[in-house]
Amino acid sequence: MSSGDAPLDVVGVEKIGSKPKSKEFYPFAYSLLDSTKNHYCWTCLGETVDLTCDKCKVAKFCSKQCQTSGAFDHKYECGPLHNCKDLNTDERMLLRIIGRYKVSKFLLIFLQQKVSVQDILDGNDKKIDGFYTNRESGRSVMQIWEHCADMKKDENAMNVFKKIYDRVKQYGDKTHLVDKDTAFQLHSRNFINRHSISNVDYLREIGKGLYLDLCRYDHSCRPNAIYSCNGTVAKLRALHDNVDLENVETTHYTYIELPPCKIQRRHMLKETWYFECHCERCDDPEDNWLTAVICPVCIAKTEFRKTIKLHGQEAYFNSETLEIVCDRCHTTLDREYIFMALDGMRTIRRTIEGAEDVSQDPVELLKIFQGALLSYERILPMSNAYFCQLIAAMIPLIARVQMTKRERLVASLDLHFKCEPFVRYVYRYAHPSKAMHFLQMGQLHLELHNDKDAARYLIEAHRIMDYLFGSDHFLSKQTKGFMDHALSSLMQFQRSFVNVLEKAPEAKKALEEKLMTKDEKKALKDAEKNKKKRNNKKNKKNASNGASTKQSVDDDLGDLPELIADM
Ligand SMILES: [Zn+2]
Ligand SMILES: [Zn+2]
Ligand SMILES: [Zn+2]
Ligand SMILES: [Zn+2]
Repeated sequence: MSSGDAPLDVVGVEKIGSKPKSKEFYPFAYSLLDSTKNHYCWTCLGETVDLTCDKCKVAKFCSKQCQTSGAFDHKYECGPLHNCKDLNTDERMLLRIIGRYKVSKFLLIFLQQKVSVQDILDGNDKKIDGFYTNRESGRSVMQIWEHCADMKKDENAMNVFKKIYDRVKQYGDKTHLVDKDTAFQLHSRNFINRHSISNVDYLREIGKGLYLDLCRYDHSCRPNAIYSCNGTVAKLRALHDNVDLENVETTHYTYIELPPCKIQRRHMLKETWYFECHCERCDDPEDNWLTAVICPVCIAKTEFRKTIKLHGQEAYFNSETLEIVCDRCHTTLDREYIFMALDGMRTIRRTIEGAEDVSQDPVELLKIFQGALLSYERILPMSNAYFCQLIAAMIPLIARVQMTKRERLVASLDLHFKCEPFVRYVYRYAHPSKAMHFLQMGQLHLELHNDKDAARYLIEAHRIMDYLFGSDHFLSKQTKGFMDHALSSLMQFQRSFVNVLEKAPEAKKALEEKLMTKDEKKALKDAEKNKKKRNNKKNKKNASNGASTKQSVDDDLGDLPELIADM
């Protein structure tokens, strides 16, 4: 962050080497997206597809086994798909939910009449082949949270439902359907509670799933948990050590993207989930830095970019006149400037959202974004969410534009660097998006032969990946590969200069410190203090013995930070 921008909190993984905590959930119903339905198995969501359903000629499976175990879910959509090949995700999903709902209802009646509680405990409710397979839930689909009344008042939402239901009714088998009101009850629960299912490396959304137990957890814009998917299994993971995943009151994940500012986030949450967010982050005045502006007088007069909040009670110098004053130069911001800044934020949002419609050409797009950047860089600071999102939108374009490799690396690194404080703020704890950002920065530094910086970012990225996904996950392994590479080039450099370094202890210490995290620095400081104490004692002792006080080189190596000593 450039000097003068508002300071933003940075919190990382709390403890080094602590165990990742996670909890698994199985879906009540799930469905692939229209864009992925031809490329993934409809049962296990694996990436190979060898079989196509004979009847509908649409559904794909990786194996005969998956076709059999997925038969129950597919049964309800197969006929309709035979009649209409392009039934979309929402329509297929509703058919699957109705199917499960009808059978679970039937099962319940069946159980009440014929099966005793003991039978359920004995597992006799699993008689329908493939129906349960790991998919029990603590509650029934009708018990989960709903917003039927809000949705009924929402014309847009009702139009969406009507369209889905009409298609399902038109192409569906009557014996497999439910009445319109029950369908609406199920649809509204699905729309409020469903989760997106990502592919295994967490990079791409491939489907939607309704997880009856996972949706008990509430939203927070400052989540302390995250869920990711491995096939149909959703895994909720703690983002730091003090999270109790069993406690639904204190564990939160996010329903939305985290970079937007509070106004945008509240708008998104209200639109789909019908509530005004008052999570820890939304009620934190710090979050108002995300819509701050640069003081027009300070920036003109000095190098110092003083930023000023426009939102929140604390923004006003005078709460009656709603005056906003720079507390450095005491200039009152004029209305025109404020409107210009707000308009700038709106323009940036529209520019990003509409860019793909204007052009697909990366050079064109980059020019459009650069234009917006130049127009607002003297008004909006780097802590501004809109400005940062504009810069983030430019990153993938750099890779698609013709330039020399070095130019590309430098340009990409510069954009990553500019966003870094924002990324640290938005993804407060050990978050995969933060780790990906650092991984990319590490890779760029590595290619530019800045081994020290590469090692620093890759160590941080690896620590997060390892914590979240475990050392066997491919992202952890990939990051470790890059980290080891950076550390070994660094060590090679170090070894060849080891003599020089030994003769220049100051330089050696500086190099070591550059590679250390806060915790490690503190540990080293403490160790040094203790050593000094010990040495003082030893010196006193030695002086009295008349022996030499010169320290051996071996002693020094023992004090190298753990990461280097491991090499
Ligand atoms: Zn499969
Ligand atoms: Zn079929
Ligand atoms: Zn919030
Ligand atoms: Zn000022």
